[in-house]
Amino acid sequence: MILFFVGDVLRSRAENVDPISDETKLIVEKLIKAANSGKNAVGLAAPKIGIGKSVFVYRVPERKDGAVIFPDEWEVAVNATYQPASDEIVMMSEGCFSVPHFYSRSVPRYKKIHYSYFTLGGTKVEGTAEGSKAQIIQHETDHLNGFLYIDKLDDTGSLGKLSELKKSTSK
Ligand SMILES: [Zn+2]
Repeated sequence: MILFFVGDVLRSRAENVDPISDETKLIVEKLIKAANSGKNAVGLAAPKIGIGKSVFVYRVPERKDGAVIFPDEWEVAVNATYQPASDEIVMMSEGCFSVPHFYSRSVPRYKKIHYSYFTLGGTKVEGTAEGSKAQIIQHETDHLNGFLYIDKLDDTGSLGKLSELKKSTSK
């Protein structure tokens, strides 16, 4: 079950968790199951399935010969944070399972970010990301903080119907 944008859990800050606990492992299993049931999903955060914990799964699609390839494996991000690596903002096309049937072509995102999180085994992962990866990590980390991409729009009139966007991805 995916919660829509009226849910309390979706609008609250998620709690940090122990990356090596059984509870976290169980959340990850639920997330992967739910994410695999979504068409072309690239990310899913625990608040979206009603769990107010700081866990999300994501995968970065690759473009190959004009096709979009979705990796089979999901990356797991526990207690994730990000900071902008520069002031540069880019307008990205973006949709979300929690705001069904709509997308926007003009969601402002930092072009480059520094991110940090833990894997399920407790290994700290830090890096710098641009492009789709930066967008996905920002989108999912924002969910952990109770934000949806529609909060970032200057004008909700810029929302379009998802059915009009052919190559959409959902996060
Ligand atoms: Zn979303």
